[in-house]
Parts: sequence; structure tokens; C-alpha cells
Amino acid sequence: MVASLPVARVALPIPIHELFDYSIPDTLLDRVAPGVRVRVPMGRSMRIGTCIERAASSPHGDLKPIDAVVDDQPILDPDLLEFARWTANYYFASVGEVIECAVPRGARAKAKTVPWVRLLDAEAEDRGAGRENRARLVALLREHGRLPLEELVARANTTRAPVKTLEKRGVVELFDAPELNRIDESLFDNDEPVREFSLSAAQHGAVDRIVEAIRGDRFESFLLHGVTGSGKTEVYMHAIEAALAKDRGALMLLPEIALTPQTVRRFRARFGDVAVLHSLLPAGERSKQYRKLRDRSARVAIGARSAIFAPIPDLGLIVVDECHETSYKQENSPRYHARDLAVVRASRGNVPCVLGSATPSMESLHNARSGRFHYLELPDRVTGHPLPTIELVDLRKEPFETEGPASVFSDRLLALLHETINDGDQALLFLNRRGFARQVYCSRCAYSVECAACDIPLTYHKHSDRGLCHYCGTIERIPDKCPECDFPGITRRRHGTERIEESLAARFPNVAIDRLDRDTATSAGRLEAILDRFRRGETRILVGTQMIAKGHDIPGVTLVGVLDADIALQQPDFRAAERTGQLLCQVAGRAGRGERPGRVVIQTRQPDHYAIQAALTQDLSGIYEEETPTRQLLAYPPFGHLIRIVCEDARDDRAISSAHELARRLTVDATTRVLGPAPAPLAKLRGRYRYHILIKGAERAGVQAALRSTNVLKPQWSTTRVTVDVDPQSIS
Ligand code: ADP
Ligand code: ZN
Repeated sequence: MVASLPVARVALPIPIHELFDYSIPDTLLDRVAPGVRVRVPMGRSMRIGTCIERAASSPHGDLKPIDAVVDDQPILDPDLLEFARWTANYYFASVGEVIECAVPRGARAKAKTVPWVRLLDAEAEDRGAGRENRARLVALLREHGRLPLEELVARANTTRAPVKTLEKRGVVELFDAPELNRIDESLFDNDEPVREFSLSAAQHGAVDRIVEAIRGDRFESFLLHGVTGSGKTEVYMHAIEAALAKDRGALMLLPEIALTPQTVRRFRARFGDVAVLHSLLPAGERSKQYRKLRDRSARVAIGARSAIFAPIPDLGLIVVDECHETSYKQENSPRYHARDLAVVRASRGNVPCVLGSATPSMESLHNARSGRFHYLELPDRVTGHPLPTIELVDLRKEPFETEGPASVFSDRLLALLHETINDGDQALLFLNRRGFARQVYCSRCAYSVECAACDIPLTYHKHSDRGLCHYCGTIERIPDKCPECDFPGITRRRHGTERIEESLAARFPNVAIDRLDRDTATSAGRLEAILDRFRRGETRILVGTQMIAKGHDIPGVTLVGVLDADIALQQPDFRAAERTGQLLCQVAGRAGRGERPGRVVIQTRQPDHYAIQAALTQDLSGIYEEETPTRQLLAYPPFGHLIRIVCEDARDDRAISSAHELARRLTVDATTRVLGPAPAPLAKLRGRYRYHILIKGAERAGVQAALRSTNVLKPQWSTTRVTVDVDPQSIS
């Protein structure tokens, strides 16, 4: 009898890993159950937590009583509750933090409101000064009806002043409304026709294998490898149909950026009411979507990362689209990886899991090669669009200039840019500048100085005028001339997107050029505005960082230029080559999505590098072969396991000594090593100095045991903030 268990063990959304015991008042005895949210006193305030289990007694005396019960029904069923506990334990987070991700906050959290503008009455004629700005605003509102003020102003490339003028004249009205959520339900209502075609042989083969596993109620993981347009989504849909036919539910994860109205419409056209789970949905809307799943009025859920915790009764299939995407990894606690959790959840539920990608990660490829995943390939495009042509430009052969951005544009790229503009087409220029610190490299041949022990490029450390390995902390002298080509100029700097935009403007004086990076896209509204102008063809050349690499379909783009592929290759990250290959393939995919074929130019000083060659042939398997020996030797994933511990403190000395003391306390077995502490690549962030420790080992159990060998949450200095990242994807 539950009622005879008067103690509730409650998880709270705070970074303390223990559960908290509360007594259950008689009046609530039959309402407090595992998975039900409760309001409990915590310190001087009340918190919402989740009852995890009930117990007859507690080792702690003098329990405080539960104040109130929030839910009539458990919000997490026993399986999900267990899954949340597993996740918390594996990723070293508290169960409460995991549940916080898993569950919509309900009506408690009020949606934030922002000012919006709507058109009341388009003025007949406007002769006053500044009428162009006003006309653009009115035209945008005619097109969209209403827009958030900030987005409207950004899209019209103007200020708030003309909006105020229009308001005074009674042309527009300002009002407060919830922040724009990209998923506005009304956008989904258009009926997309369900297109009928027969599957290709490769699609058939893939569907058959997956359906077999669905019918047999078997856990099996599949890696579906195929370029964009090879028909992967079609395969997912057939698999989902098979699950529905067995009266099972289905869950499909996709990167947030791919969760567009168009995608949702495609799924709703096929499966009727599909629950859409998106962190940007207002809380009330999210609860509604969860309710639909729980009461089975929607059997298919599609959503971004956190949808991995979606409550789907009788779940029969999990799909992870674009499974290589780093956005599946959450970068704050709990730092879970939704792709990996998909496999865990599928195995716990005895259902198949399909991971799809055009550029699978080494981890996924390794799983496929070692037989943990079934490898399914869609080698050809089902759409008519041909793949773009890709060419390399060897920057070593360009006229060499030590200073100034001139050498950033090869003659070949400039010629193609002129051609593209003259043909009335658009170009994307891509510069990966997300270097954390300055890299030490030869500006002629791009040779970069590396730590021999970690195989990681050194970064320049101004204080000591030395190169630093951000993995193990080794500091080395920088050679005066390049060991590879004898060139006397080892540099420590790079061109930025801003200077490139300037130099481009000088070369193409009458061409509309725009820039997309963290400095210009300071909000979602501004990002959309820049992309909008480009989509409409107003901008002819868009220069940007990796923000432009993904997902944006712009039919007018026929030329993509990668200005300096070496920057990505020299990141202080053991995945640098792999990521470069993936990135270049994705960037190349931006060219020629419309009628006309696309061209891609990759500028590099290392044209023979295997990652560049892989991008050239659009076949990333070469990277896997090349990387395998080093990663095996150094126990990097997928041949080893990593856990990263970061110590941050406003005082440098405290951050260092906390990190050192922590590192000393970690005990490791023979298969495991502790690297560092070393300064983190982002050595200072928001006023805090950052040092990190890497636990690295051949066995997962070994690194996990090392982490648990010490109480890492209690550093030497209480001011030091310690965070743990299990299976880190980014080492910044
Ligand atoms: P991916 O998910 O790999 O990018 P999709 O499944 O979205 O590919 O397919 C790309 C396009 O081709 C879609 O418009 C889809 O409707 C269409 N398509 C998919 N499979 C076939 C097929 N066998 N025959 C014709 N068209 C197809
Ligand atoms: Zn090192």
C-alpha cells in the first residue's frame, strides 16, 4: 500500500545530486505518487520538485511536509522516470535538472511579451522626408500582417523612429504579444499534398530492415547514411507508418534549425496531428503538445533535443535526423547528448532506433563498423538536382602578402565572383573564424605547431610568448621559422569577417554585400532579417561564419567560397579534421539548390590534407581511416572516452589551485589518464578564469570511476564553480 509509505523522495531542479525527503500530510497521501510534481519548502522559499519514489521512513529526522501537489496524473511514467535517473547518473547531473529538461514548465512560467506592430490602414500617399523607410515598413506589414517591432525594424533595415511616425499617423499600431515563437501553429495548417512515388531500391532495402525490427519488437540501431536529397526522410516516414500500424508511437528528433513549418507540414500531411516539441514554444503550448501525446490523440512527436524525454505511450520507434549535429549535445547541465540517449532509450524500450546523416560522426561510423549499428546506405540523390562541382584553390600559389586581407581572395575566386554577379546569381562566402585563441601557424604553408603528446595545435599565449597545448598544459617555444617550409613568418593572427566584408566592398562597389556572424546577428530577429534580405535576392554576396553553413536553402546561390579551410583544421580540438570535413560538405550543399548547378571553391594551403580531399570527393570515409591510428593510440573517441571538468573562478589563482587540487584527488586505473589542469581554450569567460582537466581512457567504466573517485562538486575554494561534461563534444 502506497499510503503506508508516508515519505516522499523528491528531486529538485538544483545541482545537488541527492533526493530530498519530505513527509506526506494525510490529506495528500493518495495524491503523491512517483512522477507527480509537488511543491515543497526549501530554505525560506517554496520549490517545485518531482516525487521520485515513496518510502516508509527516512534516515533524516524531522522532515518538513509537502505543501501541495501540482499534478493529478504523473507527468512522467515509471519508464521515463527511470530513464531520467539513468541520464542524471551518467551525465553527472541531478535528477531534478534532467526532469526540468524533460517536462514543460506548465502554466507557471509566463511567456515573455515583446512589442509587435500591426498594419491598421496603409496611407494613400506619403510625400514627407524618410518616406522610403516608411514604405518599406508598410510593405513588410502588408506581406506579414504583423511582426515583432525588433524584427520589423531589422528587416526594413531602419530604426524605430519611422515606426513611431507611422503610429502617430494611425497607419500602424503597437501592441504587446508573446515573443515570436518560430513554430506558430497557424503556419502548419496549409495542406501539403501527400506525394506518391515508389521508393528506390536503396530506400526499399532500408525500410525493410527497419520495419523488420519494428515488427519483431527488437532493439536495433541503424545508421542511415545518405546525402541531402537521397530520400532519408521518406525512409523515416515509412518506418513511422510501420510503427503506427502496430499501434505504437514514434519519436523523431531533428536539429532545432530544421524544425521548420515546412517540415512540420510534411509530417502532418502524412500522419495527421503530430505533436511538435520545441524549446521555443511558450510553456502553455508545450504542455498542450505533451497532453496530446499522453492522451494518445497524437502518436507521432517531432522535436529538437529535449524531445528525447517526450512522453509517448507504447513508443515503437526513435529516429534521429542529422545525427551528426552538435546541437544534440546540451551545453549546460544536464550535458546530455540526445543522439546517445536515443540509443539508450530505444534499448531500454526494446524498439529500433534510426540515426540518419549525410556526414555521420566518427562515433556513429565506428558503431556501424563494429557491428553495433546496422549500416544502411542511400548512395544516390532521388531529386534531380546534381551535386555541385567542387574545386580547390592552393593559396600557396597565390601572390603572397604578409599583411592585409588581399591574399584572402584568390584570382580564381574573384573571377567566379564576378561571373556569378554578372549572371544575376548570388554567392556565399564562408570564413570560419571561431578560433578561441590565436593559432600558431605558418602563413605560407599553414604548418601548425602541435603538442606531440596530444596531437593538438598549440595556441599562442601572449604572456609567455609561447605556444600552449590546451589539453595537457604543455608550453613550448615557437620556432622562428617554419620547420616545414623554412618561411620565417610564423603568424599568430587571422583575418576577420569584418575586414573581409570591407575589402569585398572595395572590389565590388555597386554590389549589395552583407555579413552574418555573431556581431551582426545579435538576435533571432536580426539573423532572420539578414537571411531574409539574402533570400529575397537583395543581398548578392553574403559573408559569414559557420552560422551560414547549415540548413539555409537559397535557390539563387550558385557559388560558395570557403575562404580559408585551414582555420577549421587548426582548431585545438581532436575532432578538428572530422569537423572540417563535415562542415565543408555542408557548406558545399548550400550551392546550387535551385535550377542552376552550383560551384564550390575551397581555398586552402593544405590541398592534400585528407579532410580537404574528403570534402573534394564528398566522401568522408577517408577521414575515418586517416584518424583511426592516432585516435586509437591516444584513446580519443570513438576509441576511448573523455570526461572534462572545468573550474571557473573570478580569481585566477583560486581557479588554478581548485583545479590542481581536484586533479590530485582523482584516482585512476591503468586504462585511464588525467590530463591537465590546463587553461581552457576560452581562458576567461564572463569575468571568470577557466581551467580544465580531461579524464581520458580506453574504457568507459574507467573514466566514470575516476570521476566518481572524488567529490568534484566541492572544490578547494567555495567560490570556484565546477562543471562536469561527460563525452564532451566541444572543448572550449
Ligand atoms: P533527405 O531527407 O535525404 O534530404 P527526402 O526524403 O526529403 O531526402 O527526399 C528529398 C525529396 O525527394 C523530397 O521532396 C521527397 O518527397 C522526394 N523523394 C523521396 N523519395 C523519392 C522517390 N523514391 N522518388 C521520387 N521522389 C522522392
Ligand atoms: Zn598536450
